[in-house]
Amino acid sequence: MTDEDISSGHQVPEDTCYRLSMPVWAAIMAPMKGKEPSQQSIEAEFRASHPNSMRLYEQAKALFPGGVTHDGRYSPPTPIYGKRGKGSRKWDVDGVEYVDYWMGHGALLLGHAHPSLIQAIEGQILKGTHLGACHELEIDWAQAILQLVPSVERVRFTSSGTEAVQMALRLARAVTGKPKIVKLADHFHGWSNDVAPGEAPPGIVGGTRDEVLTAPANDLSALDALLARGDVAALILEPSGAHMGAHPLGPGYLREARDATSQRGVFLIFDEVVTGFRWSQGGVQGLLGLKPDITTFGKIVAGGLPGGAVGGSLQAMAPLEFGDPEWMRRHHILHPGTFNANPLSAAAGVAMLNLIGDGRAQRRAAETAREIAGGMNRLLMKHSINGCVRGQSSILHLCVGPDAPSPEEAEAMSERGEGCRFPSDRALVSTLRQAMLLDGVDVMGGTMIVSAVHDEGDVAQTHHAFEQALLRVKVQGLIG
Ligand code: PMP
Repeated sequence: MTDEDISSGHQVPEDTCYRLSMPVWAAIMAPMKGKEPSQQSIEAEFRASHPNSMRLYEQAKALFPGGVTHDGRYSPPTPIYGKRGKGSRKWDVDGVEYVDYWMGHGALLLGHAHPSLIQAIEGQILKGTHLGACHELEIDWAQAILQLVPSVERVRFTSSGTEAVQMALRLARAVTGKPKIVKLADHFHGWSNDVAPGEAPPGIVGGTRDEVLTAPANDLSALDALLARGDVAALILEPSGAHMGAHPLGPGYLREARDATSQRGVFLIFDEVVTGFRWSQGGVQGLLGLKPDITTFGKIVAGGLPGGAVGGSLQAMAPLEFGDPEWMRRHHILHPGTFNANPLSAAAGVAMLNLIGDGRAQRRAAETAREIAGGMNRLLMKHSINGCVRGQSSILHLCVGPDAPSPEEAEAMSERGEGCRFPSDRALVSTLRQAMLLDGVDVMGGTMIVSAVHDEGDVAQTHHAFEQALLRVKVQGLIG
């Protein structure tokens, strides 16, 4: 990646909330053809069309707390049980086909079962999944990351984004000798003790949480007041703004945060678990030309298999180096994970980073996301429903409800750097999601993660399902 790449439009623009200047959506604005939405309740229809998922969920409830294996999949009356995926689509155990906007929680920039990734994984599986040894693929994997993300001079692989964050915080504290971490309100960094969401999550002992200070997002003077305390090791943030960019940071905030942390000798950690290799091939930092001290990766970095990575400057990564007994005792951080840099994830990660290293996949996904958002916003206006679909790069967020801004208001707020929170009626979003499932579209809560392989047919089906969902909630009196 070169500076020319950045300036020649090889990247999606900074802080973009999608504009309304879309192509003419004649089809969308035309009166709806076909059947009227059913009077039956959305939930009743959903139950009736998902008997196998309902049955599996009953079994799961006797096995897993909450019946699920990831909090985000808890979705009464039943989560859908997936069976297989291909490209932008997936199928559930009831034989229903969906346009998938979970995309492996963001790991699948190239969609499900991409042939090159399968080939890489198959090739490695035949050679062994764990050789109990260093291996060549870990070198290729690290080289790909260092090449795409210039702030990373050394890297270590982990099994998840949560682990990468945990190591990033430990490195920052070890190098600076300071105890406190500053995070931004609402920013998500996985479930490790330091930064798990919640005011006082049960089970976290001692003063762990007292060592983490929270600054309101977009408030540089509040941030500076915390940094000025003199006991802060690092500022960690989602460089997209909270929750995969749902609550954007104001223009210039990241640059200011970089300056403020540098001036105070505080490490800046970009959590690029979601944005890494998606916002651009070099993540948010590649887009803005910024260099954090430490970066955390997950999802795309391991090509759709489990994995994460933590990387940074030589200084930031130094505690992982080996040295004499005195160094080992006083400075060394242990990192002995059984599955660190496991060959299977390495194979998928190398293949993925090679495929997406020129930025084309990211641009394609972002363009498709723009089309999806434009059409959904037109539908909200057509049916006079308060709300908007906004996003950055290839991740969109649906915001509806009495206090939700219109698309124009949301755009203006973002441009002014205001309104990092966009009020949304979560129950309504969840009902809309369930209704869209009935027309073969699976949205991740209110979030839509778009891949480089979603195509025009997917976009059209998404607009159709969204319009049907809006009509269904109207028919049921859930919306004005
Ligand atoms: N950081 C961010 C910004 C995330 O969105 C996530 C997970 N979605 C994590 C960290 C944790 O990653 P993982 O789920 O791989 O532990």
